[in-house]
Amino acid sequence: MKAVLDHVGIAVDRLDEALAFYRDALGLEIDLPEEVPTQKVRAHMVGTGGAALELLEATAPDSPIATFIGRRGAGLHHITLRVDDLQAALAHLAARGVRLVDSAPRPGAHGSLVAFIHPSAAHGVLVELKQSPSPAVRLGASSIPWGDLSLTMLHDGPFRLDGGAMFGVVPKPLWEKLTPADDRNRIQLAMRPLLVEASWGRMLIDCGVGEKMPEKARDIYALDRTVHLDHALAERGLDAASLDFVLATHLHFDHFGGATARGPQGLVPRFPKARYLIRDAEWEDATHPHERNRASYLQDDFAPLKPAGVVDFYAGDVTVKPGVRVVRSGGHTGQHQIVYLESGGKTAVFTADLIPTIAHLQDPWVMGYDLFPMETLAFKRRFMREAIDGEYLIFFEHDPLVAAGIIRERDGKRWVEQVL
Ligand SMILES: [Zn+2]
Ligand SMILES: [Zn+2]
Repeated sequence: MKAVLDHVGIAVDRLDEALAFYRDALGLEIDLPEEVPTQKVRAHMVGTGGAALELLEATAPDSPIATFIGRRGAGLHHITLRVDDLQAALAHLAARGVRLVDSAPRPGAHGSLVAFIHPSAAHGVLVELKQSPSPAVRLGASSIPWGDLSLTMLHDGPFRLDGGAMFGVVPKPLWEKLTPADDRNRIQLAMRPLLVEASWGRMLIDCGVGEKMPEKARDIYALDRTVHLDHALAERGLDAASLDFVLATHLHFDHFGGATARGPQGLVPRFPKARYLIRDAEWEDATHPHERNRASYLQDDFAPLKPAGVVDFYAGDVTVKPGVRVVRSGGHTGQHQIVYLESGGKTAVFTADLIPTIAHLQDPWVMGYDLFPMETLAFKRRFMREAIDGEYLIFFEHDPLVAAGIIRERDGKRWVEQVL
């Protein structure tokens, strides 16, 4: 059991006086209050960069906070420790004879689960245990007509990557506010291949991680294969044999691991009727990995495709099919590319690892994974301007909740108007 300090609860008698100290004298930021009617309490969270403070104000004379202040005066009321699995934590404590107020988890604020340990067991301190709601991953297939094309965001299930690596030089107190980390410092992500349907056929842009990952890697990346690409395709009445083309943004395992599958005779192309469209220079890099990118370029994902005769290589920025144009961004990998989907005067862009989630809207929020971060920054700065001014529909391949949206900007602040 690993417990992390989440916040310290302080019972306050006079809120205006407490604010004069915590907000005005200390200069801390106070969040909008949350009312908990069952407890007759109003809670004001105070961010401090790490664990927060929570100012608790009674809303009725018979509130537990009023009783507490009447008995002991204002001051430290409780500490809250965050655990991953509250049920398991309570079982562990009960087995060690720790006296509990709650023997089972109960609902807390913002969808969390909480339980209290009796102060007598914690040397006079009331201890609250809390399990944060795991940010849901939105899985499913949703479509939008796009001129002569139809675009459908599919998915290949959820996974997690190291939060520090996902945000590069951005300090954790900043990114953690947008996307909380688990006790292994990983953040929730999704893999979202894009299905393009047109008169020329069906194309998949990227194809997820697939089923080849060994147990150890499944654990490291928290791969949950309960529902994956096959299920998303089935929602559209399709299967692996329905695809005519599979286009790679780059050959990292979380984008192209699903290109091959293990059959009785060894590794085979996963999509039996598809031509695989791969940028020649990316293929060169992927098949000649070095120490820095070897863990991301898994040869089994793509090497079997060439001898199977299913790859169509192309060079440079080209229109691979009417309405589908690739543009090298570099940065993340030497040949990483984004995909423009242009039809009927409208522009959508599948940005792959250039803007992996809606937490990456600011130009310098560049992944630590990137081989050439300054190249990413330069490209992203140009592209962001173009995307915001042109009101492009942007696909976020790794966002757990927002598959696609339009990036808006006002007074230097950026946000996403969700479309899919
Ligand atoms: Zn990548
Ligand atoms: Zn990726």
